[in-house]
Amino acid sequence: MLLIDCPFCGPRNETEFTYGGPALAPRPADPGAVSDADWVDWVTVPPNPMGPVEERWWHSRGCGAWLTIRRHTVTHEITEVRLGR
Ligand SMILES: [Zn+2]
Repeated sequence: MLLIDCPFCGPRNETEFTYGGPALAPRPADPGAVSDADWVDWVTVPPNPMGPVEERWWHSRGCGAWLTIRRHTVTHEITEVRLGR
């Protein structure tokens, strides 16, 4: 179980939050310059390393803030929580 340290509410159980997916790299400025394979990867393949990932979480049963957290996928240690992206 994750304990997410919301900047407004303090440490809260993950059950108060709704997972919003991975925090993806920004959309390519010129999609026409990206290969089809790279575009499909950007749209459909979420990052899934054995290591740190950035994820979006909505404090849906709290203050309503959208947070971006950095979490290690093996240890589930959260090393960063910030507002927005
Ligand atoms: Zn909150």
